[in-house]
Amino acid sequence: MSPSPDVLCRELQATVGPTHVLVDPDMRAGYETDWTGRFHGASRLVVRPGTTHEVAAVVRICAAHNAAIVTQGGNTGLVGGGVPRNHEVIVSTARLTRCDAVDTAASQVTVGSGVTLAAARNHARAVALDLAIDFASRDSATIGGAVATNAGGSRVIRFGTMRAQVAGIEAVLANGEIIGSLSGLPKETIGLHLPSLLCGSEGTLAIITAVRLKLVPWYRHTATALVGLPSLAAALDLLPALRRELAQLDSIELLMPSAMSLVCEHLQRTCPIPVDAGAYLLIECAGNSDQHDELMRVLALHAPTNATAVATDETARGRLLELRDNVTTAINHRGVPLKLDVALPLGVLSQTTADIEALINRLAPKSTLINFGHLAEGNLHLNTLNAGSADATITDQVLQMVIARGGAISAEHGIGIAKTHWLVAQRGAAEVDALRSLKASLDPHKMLNPGVLLPEA
Ligand SMILES: Cc1cc2nc3c(=O)[nH]c(=O)nc-3n(C[C@H](O)[C@H](O)[C@H](O)COP(=O)(O)OP(=O)(O)OC[C@H]3O[C@@H](n4cnc5c(N)ncnc54)[C@H](O)[C@@H]3O)c2cc1C
Repeated sequence: MSPSPDVLCRELQATVGPTHVLVDPDMRAGYETDWTGRFHGASRLVVRPGTTHEVAAVVRICAAHNAAIVTQGGNTGLVGGGVPRNHEVIVSTARLTRCDAVDTAASQVTVGSGVTLAAARNHARAVALDLAIDFASRDSATIGGAVATNAGGSRVIRFGTMRAQVAGIEAVLANGEIIGSLSGLPKETIGLHLPSLLCGSEGTLAIITAVRLKLVPWYRHTATALVGLPSLAAALDLLPALRRELAQLDSIELLMPSAMSLVCEHLQRTCPIPVDAGAYLLIECAGNSDQHDELMRVLALHAPTNATAVATDETARGRLLELRDNVTTAINHRGVPLKLDVALPLGVLSQTTADIEALINRLAPKSTLINFGHLAEGNLHLNTLNAGSADATITDQVLQMVIARGGAISAEHGIGIAKTHWLVAQRGAAEVDALRSLKASLDPHKMLNPGVLLPEA
């Protein structure tokens, strides 16, 4: 028989201190609803351990009381994986904020999983290094959350996703054992690579407590161009030249007209380039010398259009980048969107985007679709507002179309609870069974994030 919640609470209080166990509904509320407002549920309590050993003790206490856990970092995830569903205990990583001295020879640093992307970046920049991952929720999203979701963002074209930034990991298993290594050896062939296993595991296999991060140079010269192109197809036509000729290419962000007009309205600005383009690209080059001339040369050659704004100083670049950074917030100001984050092979991206637009228009004629994404990875963020009762049908038909055309139902946000239903269609029954076996061996009592990522058998 399970002991009463009070016993669990008292044991947790004795482990982490009474102020770090939140039972009051008002105190818990911020942890129980996701960033979009779409996913929410009541928790049993919130516990905020301050060290890896406290995390291990918390997990052991929860296991002894048969209390399932939802791990939460910055709560900026967009697929509902970090909020409770069934009175779980929320383990918040907010106090796991160690920031070790940067190892400049190895170009690595060890940080706690609760450190935000912005804090890790600032820490690295203090010694002229940088974090390779960047996206708009950087002030709240944590390193642990970014690893758990294998986050992407704007610089994937140059440095890869979060998976590529992890040189070592420390984590607590469902039985309370601490595993992993933070030595960060670049060459280490001694069996399965634990960081790879935990990247994208969305809190279902272990609680990540610290990460050894690879760092990259902090480039002091960045040029940012906003380019308007007639269509998404024209933007894709530009891609080979950008990749081939811009050695310091750092990012290519895509805003479709719906996203550009919404964000301009939200920021009360006019679009910096005077056209009604069919697609907008924010292109960045970053290096150790001035990037302006090279970027302009390539654009003049391959995208000879008046619809270009280029900035190199921080203020002017910031004015261009805020257009991309504020799209998600602008959408949320309009209402709770249906969010789909998909990736498609570049060869079918333009046609599939048109087909998805037509599909959503047919299924929910009164809805508004706002598209943006990361062009080089074929990553589209499809946000539908006012879809009404068509939400489920839109999700199903769009994801089936994406799978049929060789795409991915999640490019960077993860599966969470939003997309478990389509995992078998995407990965096949045999592969999902293998993932279930892995989960069962590491977490036989379904303690960690039950219901997330893997569909019920
Ligand atoms: C404005 C905005 C812009 C965004 N832009 C991008 C983008 O460009 N690219 C992108 O990839 N994402 C983007 N996101 C999504 C989100 O920020 C990322 O998924 C981020 O990595 C989540 O980090 P978090 O700390 O907030 O995690 P949470 O939301 O707290 O959790 C996300 C998942 O990770 C698990 N988790 C969290 N911490 C741990 C841990 N220590 N150990 C084990 N599991 C853990 C949770 O259980 C949950 O399943 C954006 C979100 C917003 C709100």
